[in-house]
Amino acid sequence: MSIVACPQCGKKNRVQDIEHGRPKCGQCQSNLPWVVNADDVSFTSATDTRLLTLVDLWAPWCGPCRLVAPVLRQLASAYAGRLKVVKVNVDESPQLASKFQATSIPMLLLLHEGNVLDTVVGAQPEHVLRQRIDFLLPTIEMN
Ligand SMILES: [Zn+2]
Repeated sequence: MSIVACPQCGKKNRVQDIEHGRPKCGQCQSNLPWVVNADDVSFTSATDTRLLTLVDLWAPWCGPCRLVAPVLRQLASAYAGRLKVVKVNVDESPQLASKFQATSIPMLLLLHEGNVLDTVVGAQPEHVLRQRIDFLLPTIEMN
């Protein structure tokens, strides 16, 4: 659970890590940015959503990961209601690090219903990530 200020009206909302549908502001019903942390244990439930999911495989000692973090927060706001960001600290999630072969981080996965649709390695600028997301969203949202 985290507290998120609504980008539209400023109301502070409780946002659950896992919920059906997508988090909305209790006051104005705007979609809220959705950023959660997950590990080996919680990953499956954290990514069990119909939204496009951006998984951030990162570690505290990784400089480029720190550069990417604010970009991901921006994307979560820009794509509120359409994108869920799931952050995975690979040091604390050895099974996921091995499963996704996260030898070079930051590694970003675009995931939908358990399938990896795209992988981005290294700190990429926001416009590159937007292109990847914009490419995938129409197909996912048709269903
Ligand atoms: Zn609001």
